[in-house]
Amino acid sequence: MRVLGIEGTAWAASAALYDDAADDVFIESDPYQPDSGGIHPREAAEHMGEAIPQVVSTVLSRAAETATTDAGGDSDAVDHSGNPYGIDAVAFSRGPGLGPCLRTVGTAARAAAQRLGVPLVGVNHMVAHLEIGRHQSGFDSPVCLNASGANAHLLGFHNGRYRVLGETMDTGVGNALDKFTRHIGWNHPGGPKVEAAAKDGEFIDLPYVVKGMDFSFSGIMSAAKQAADDGEAVEDICFSLQEHVFGMLTEVAERALSLTGTDELVLGGGVGQNGRLQEMLEMMCEARGASFHAPDPRLLRDNAGMIAVLGAKQFAAGDTLPIDESTVDPNFRPDQVPVTWRADEPS
Ligand code: ATP
Repeated sequence: MRVLGIEGTAWAASAALYDDAADDVFIESDPYQPDSGGIHPREAAEHMGEAIPQVVSTVLSRAAETATTDAGGDSDAVDHSGNPYGIDAVAFSRGPGLGPCLRTVGTAARAAAQRLGVPLVGVNHMVAHLEIGRHQSGFDSPVCLNASGANAHLLGFHNGRYRVLGETMDTGVGNALDKFTRHIGWNHPGGPKVEAAAKDGEFIDLPYVVKGMDFSFSGIMSAAKQAADDGEAVEDICFSLQEHVFGMLTEVAERALSLTGTDELVLGGGVGQNGRLQEMLEMMCEARGASFHAPDPRLLRDNAGMIAVLGAKQFAAGDTLPIDESTVDPNFRPDQVPVTWRADEPS
């Protein structure tokens, strides 16, 4: 089975081809880079409008080159006439994300599915961040820490859904780091720059807010901005931001493992590329005899590969979307998704 995935919830205009026989993901992405400030929704949507046709076209060329005569033959229901790419379904990120970006991607996905004469699959972007880690690791039923730009939450599978076990009470973790770096004049994205600067820093006290399974970043960001205004060394603030913010995420991840009785943790999201966060989670898992998996960086940050992989699982489960019901949802929560592709598993 071969699935074309299309992603464009915020900054990454991305398309991918997933071939389940080879378990191979080909990804083509074109990131939006703001000239100044953070992600501007209108500019990001304009970027999607320009970049999505190009990345899809590159992936279709790849699909045509690699299509075999029997490509897609495992899905008898699909008519491949007019589809020289051997593509069985088109999956797209339906939400959550920026409305103007999602609408552009939804339009592209509907057009591609109709042109190819194959079904459409609507994928929840946050569940895709989780499932790519489960897919790569081979873990059975892990807890997932999604540490991305606009989100931060822990998910666990129970009664046919991914339940939100804990989450940020205000901003996403990457957005929090980006707000601090904007304040000190660094351009977007700030997370990698915080990681680089933290290497030369020392510890200073900042607020640490965990309430049960939830956590908050607004206080620590205000304190970090104030510390910068007061002349504290930027390296020390970056080091301490990482120690506090990632310490909070690690504490809650451990609590989620304990609560669910699971001994598998996967990481998802762009902030998951951070070496210090991975180190903390690894140490915590090792200390409690749990297994930890962080996907490859290209599959951690926003990318269409994770959309194509989850799209293939949904398609195999018959979980397709009629075109006239395929509206996007900027607030699409992971616990709204019936987990059709694990329907036969105990929870
Ligand atoms: P979401 O998936 O919630 O929609 P998003 O669209 O912003 O989030 P992601 O690719 O998951 O996209 O994450 C982007 C975020 O990751 C940015 O905030 C960026 O600063 C942060 N980031 C990238 N690399 C690193 C790093 N090495 N350390 C910390 N943060 C990082």
